[in-house]
Amino acid sequence: MADSIFTRIIRGEIPSHRLYEDDRVFAFLDIGPLSQGHALVVPKEPAETIDKLSDESAAAIGRCLPRLARAILKATGATAFNILQNNGRAAHQAVPHVHFHIIPRFENRPDGAGLEITWRAQKLESAAGADLARKIIANLAG
Ligand code: 5GP
Repeated sequence: MADSIFTRIIRGEIPSHRLYEDDRVFAFLDIGPLSQGHALVVPKEPAETIDKLSDESAAAIGRCLPRLARAILKATGATAFNILQNNGRAAHQAVPHVHFHIIPRFENRPDGAGLEITWRAQKLESAAGADLARKIIANLAG
């Protein structure tokens, strides 16, 4: 499989504005920011989607996200932020290498609404919910 563009960024073959690096994680500014400070946090492990990521890389990403989010909030003055993580084309994933977006949000700023969310909630029926929960729990060990 060809190296993803993010693997090439991690290796330094493609330039980026690096924000953080350790032995498992690399973070940098998104080239097409939805708002000021939009950053990407990427495991060095080249998993395509998060369900294929090792526990070790997942833990390393989990440690990095809050710290980087705090730094971005302080540096930009953002009042809120979204963490977005897309898996698969149907979920809007363009780069096939796990990545977390940190997208700062600014109230009352024209550049603060680059991300729009449409949330069409459906109803969870009780019996169907219980059945689905049982099935998911049965698959948690894998
Ligand atoms: P996705 O839709 O896969 O969740 O988002 C991929 C993100 O990667 C996009 O926000 C896009 O702007 C960013 N991106 C794609 N190529 C590059 C690049 O070469 N450099 C940087 N810094 N970001 C990139």
